[in-house]
Amino acid sequence: MWNRKIVSWTAVSVAFLVSVISCGSKSGGGEANVEEKRPKSEVQVPAFNADSAYQFIQAQADFGPRVPNTAAHGACGDYLAAQLERFGAQVYNQQADLMAFDNTLLKARNIIGAYNPDSRKRVMLCAHWDSRPFADYDKDPAKQRKPILGVNDGASGVGVLLEVARQLQQQAPAIGIDILFFDAEDYGTPAFHKGEYKENTWCLGSQYWGRVPHVSNYNARYGILLDMVGGKGATFYQELFSKRTAGKQMKKIWDAAHQLGFGQYFPKRDGTEVTDDHVYVYQLQKIPCVDIINYDPEGDTGFGDFWHTSGDTMEVIDRATLQAVGQTLLYVIYHEE
Ligand SMILES: [Zn+2]
Repeated sequence: MWNRKIVSWTAVSVAFLVSVISCGSKSGGGEANVEEKRPKSEVQVPAFNADSAYQFIQAQADFGPRVPNTAAHGACGDYLAAQLERFGAQVYNQQADLMAFDNTLLKARNIIGAYNPDSRKRVMLCAHWDSRPFADYDKDPAKQRKPILGVNDGASGVGVLLEVARQLQQQAPAIGIDILFFDAEDYGTPAFHKGEYKENTWCLGSQYWGRVPHVSNYNARYGILLDMVGGKGATFYQELFSKRTAGKQMKKIWDAAHQLGFGQYFPKRDGTEVTDDHVYVYQLQKIPCVDIINYDPEGDTGFGDFWHTSGDTMEVIDRATLQAVGQTLLYVIYHEE
């Protein structure tokens, strides 16, 4: 993913630090009425297991960098498809030859697991599974052209979603769920590239899926994208493209997090605007999609010091953050009806 702030400061609006007024009243709106028909206490939300998610992240890291056109990438793709199958999903493997910023032809693979595929009431959950071929933000110039392990940036979102898949098999929610592992998200133009900077060199897998979904006439109510959701002390400020195009769903997710006691991870404050898979899900399929992505207001890049460096390793990961994200996700999807 790419922080648009780095490209153009003018694109960033002033972050309004409006203090959030917590509102206990249930005013108007169709959704409030639906909720009343089925009291929250009756909805059994499974308990997210952060140890399990952690193991799924470790398993991906053990393959090494999952850069397209490498053996590790191929092996990890097989592993992910096998895991989704093991957890009872109908699995689609979408193979595509995609052109990178430097005209490298990437043998890419989107991996999709569908639950309750016949239901027309669907929510899509996504993350990218590839890791970046360059540590272009590493402080050490000797490392900048080497691939990153991509543990938080890539594997964390996939790990949380594999644990969600495991839960979906044990207890089905009322709706259909699609888990999408997008490929070739992080092959975008590196900082050291001398040529033109092109925004659409990121998110190649989701751009492909947006043009050719895994099933024809695909639709979902909305999507949730996880990106860098495992970092210690992560803060998921409200990403601005999501807020503009999927504001209602964003509010639902952040409200759920606060209700569950994870408010510290989900500040109800504006983050920045990010080029990530959710942009193409919305632009190409018109499905509103919320990006839950770490935003570090203190850092230079906005994402955290590990971002696109050799430091994006298992050491970055904290189970408490995985718990906050995973439990919030389960709460939201099990309350859909
Ligand atoms: Zn990245």
